Amino acid sequence: MTRPIVLGAGPAGSMAALMLAEGGSEPILIDRDAEVGDAICGGFLSWRTVEGLRQLGCDPAALGAMPVTRLRLFAKRRTAEAALPEKAYGLSRHGLDSALRQLAIAKGARLEIDRARSVAPGIIEGERRRWESPAIFLATGKHDVRGERRPRDMVNPALGVRVRLPPSAELERLIGAAIELHLFPGGYAGIVLQEGGSANVCLALRKSALADAGGDPWEMLQAVGRENPHFACRMACAEAPLSVDTIGAIPYGWIAQETEEGVYRLGDQAAVIPSLAGEGMAIALASGKAAAQSYLKGVGAPQYQRSFAKRAARPVGVASLLWHIAETPSGALAMTLASRICAGLAMRLSRIH
Ligand SMILES: Cc1cc2nc3c(=O)[nH]c(=O)nc-3n(C[C@H](O)[C@H](O)[C@H](O)COP(=O)(O)OP(=O)(O)OC[C@H]3O[C@@H](n4cnc5c(N)ncnc54)[C@H](O)[C@@H]3O)c2cc1C
Repeated sequence: MTRPIVLGAGPAGSMAALMLAEGGSEPILIDRDAEVGDAICGGFLSWRTVEGLRQLGCDPAALGAMPVTRLRLFAKRRTAEAALPEKAYGLSRHGLDSALRQLAIAKGARLEIDRARSVAPGIIEGERRRWESPAIFLATGKHDVRGERRPRDMVNPALGVRVRLPPSAELERLIGAAIELHLFPGGYAGIVLQEGGSANVCLALRKSALADAGGDPWEMLQAVGRENPHFACRMACAEAPLSVDTIGAIPYGWIAQETEEGVYRLGDQAAVIPSLAGEGMAIALASGKAAAQSYLKGVGAPQYQRSFAKRAARPVGVASLLWHIAETPSGALAMTLASRICAGLAMRLSRIH
C-alpha cells in the first residue's frame, strides 16, 4: 500500500492525518519541528472550531482553555460589548497543536521530522530526504514551500504580530471572559486570555506600520498604544520590553481555486480567511476533514479543491469585507456602534459549512 503524506502538523494537517489513519490508510505526517511551537495566532477558538474539535474527542476545556462568552470592541476611546452567540475559548497554539498531533499519532499516523524545501506532484524534497507518494496533503499553513507559492499583495501586505503578556490579576479583571478587538486605522489587535491566565495579544496590520516604527516591532506596539488608550492600558500590565513574534505578507482573502492531481491543499494553503473573523482554525479543520474524506472515497485533488473553494468563498468574502471596513476609522466606529449585530451576523456569515 502507498501511504499518503501529510506535510505540516498544524490543525489542518493533523486533522487530515487523523482522518486518513481512521480510514485505514496509514498516513505519514511530516513537520519541520520536533517540538511543537506556539504559532503566531490569536488563539481564539470559535464555537465552530470547538465543534470540530469535540467531534474528534478533543475538549478545549480539558486542555485548560479559558471560556470566552463576550465580544468587546474598541475604536479609539469608544467601547462596545456584546454576548457571543455561543461559548468560545482561548487556547495557545502550543496547547492545541500538541493535542491534535498526539491524537493523529494515537490513531496511527506516523510522525516524521523534516523540513520540506519544495513540493511537486508525487514528490517532496526534504532537508533530510526525498519523500514520494501519489497523494500529498499540503498543510504548511502560513509558510509557502517552493513549487507551491501563493500570490501576495506586495504593495502593503498584512503582517501578523504576537506578544504574550504574563498572567496578572489586573489582566484578568480587564479582559475576563471576552475576546477583545482593538480596531485602529490599518489593522486590529485581538486579545484573549489563554490557559494559565496569560493574555495572547495578536495584531494584523499593514507592513507600512512597521516601517513607520523604524522596523522595530516593540516600538510599533508602543505607537499603536499612543493612539489607543485601552490597548495601552492592557500592554502596561507587563514589564517592557517583551519578545515580539512577527510573520510577514499574509495573503488574506486568497482561495486555491485549483490544484495539481495528487496535491490536496488544506488550511491556509487552501483558503486564508482574514483573522479578524476568528475562523481560520475552523476552516483548517474543515479542509483537513474534507480532503481526507475525498481521498478515502477516491475523489481526486482537483475536484476536492474546486468544491472546497466554493465552500470557503462566502466566509472568506465576508471576513475580507469586515477586515477592510474595520481598517478605516469610520468603519471601526460603525462596528462599535453595531457591535451586537457584528457579533452575531459576522460570526455566523463567516462560518464555513
Ligand atoms: C495574526 C493572525 C491571527 C490569527 N488569529 C486566529 C484566531 O484567533 N483564531 C483562528 O481560528 N484563526 C486565527 N488565525 C488563522 C490561523 O492561525 C490559521 O488559519 C491556521 O493556523 C491554519 O492552520 P494550518 O494547519 O493550515 O497551518 P499552520 O497552523 O500554519 O501549521 C502549519 C504547520 O506546517 C509546518 N510547516 C510549515 N512549513 C513547513 C515545511 N517547509 N516543512 C515541514 N513542515 C512545515 C509548521 O511547523 C506547522 O506545524 C490567525 C492568523 C493570523 C495570521
